[in-house]
Amino acid sequence: MQTFHCDTCHQPVYLRNNWCTHCAAPMGFAPDQWAFVNLAATTAPESSPHRLCANSAQGLCNWLLPEGDTHDRCPCCLLTEIWPVLDGPQSSAHLFGVELAKRRLIMSLKELGLPVFPQETRVPLRFAILADLPGQASVKTGHAQGLITLNMKEADPTRRMAEQQRFAEPQRTVLGHLRHESGHFYWDEWVATDPSTQENFRALFGDERADYAQALQSHHASPQRWDPLQPNGFISSYAQSHPWEDWAETWAHFLLMADALSEVSPDRLSGELVRASPIDALLDTWVDLSVQSNAINRSIGLPDAYPFVLDDLIRAKLDFVRSIVLPQAWAR
Ligand SMILES: [Zn+2]
Ligand SMILES: [Zn+2]
Ligand SMILES: [Zn+2]
Repeated sequence: MQTFHCDTCHQPVYLRNNWCTHCAAPMGFAPDQWAFVNLAATTAPESSPHRLCANSAQGLCNWLLPEGDTHDRCPCCLLTEIWPVLDGPQSSAHLFGVELAKRRLIMSLKELGLPVFPQETRVPLRFAILADLPGQASVKTGHAQGLITLNMKEADPTRRMAEQQRFAEPQRTVLGHLRHESGHFYWDEWVATDPSTQENFRALFGDERADYAQALQSHHASPQRWDPLQPNGFISSYAQSHPWEDWAETWAHFLLMADALSEVSPDRLSGELVRASPIDALLDTWVDLSVQSNAINRSIGLPDAYPFVLDDLIRAKLDFVRSIVLPQAWAR
């Protein structure tokens, strides 16, 4: 994702900042300007064209309401339709982690040029952030008809590390979950609604009419062997379970690449990169970057940040995702 800058001292301002770490100016993100705004530059807060999102009071949000917006929460927070009941500092910290990841997802989708907000999509995209409750079944993360449900415990670092081991998903993160679920949302928007796109999808990912519940049950009962260094056409173990999951995992991987490549390419939005570069060029740059990030991790003594090899079928699937994104991608 692009790096923003303080409009006073021109130092970088990052996604989670609500002040400039260099000159200490209070900052908020103005979605209508797609920039961080210095709030101290406004002499009278009540006459400012921007108001802070109501969720900023709990430290949950650093967005501003667009000029003239009469809601109390910003457009990003309004996407969360169901909020969890918080029962202490730990659950507040988990919700903070989820909303931070959600803001990154929303900002990276917009930087690709994709429709996100209710007036932009066929079915409105919404989120339900839920906590497990005593005596009730655990909340399942998933997507149905535009609603992405996320179990807030995914933001618990201890649980996440255990699940990384259990599911052999070393890159399992809240952001990764949200990217994956957004893949199901955009499949419904663009693939399910167009017969020729659906045909091209089936040629690469398989026939999604295969029994979904049965496929997931079999996968969880006995996951097929999968090694990121010996690719078999699937980007993850879970991608093998059903064509829809293969799509969502590949989509999430494409978003990850676009997000990181934009972050290291000053002044280029990810949508511009995707538009300007055929898949081979994107992947060449991506592999170079991943080699460098692995080198840093190895020198610290950590596992590789990006332990994946991309075979021809995975590359073709990523190219299919690019072809879906392309008509929407930014052209400046
Ligand atoms: Zn500054
Ligand atoms: Zn907000
Ligand atoms: Zn899924």
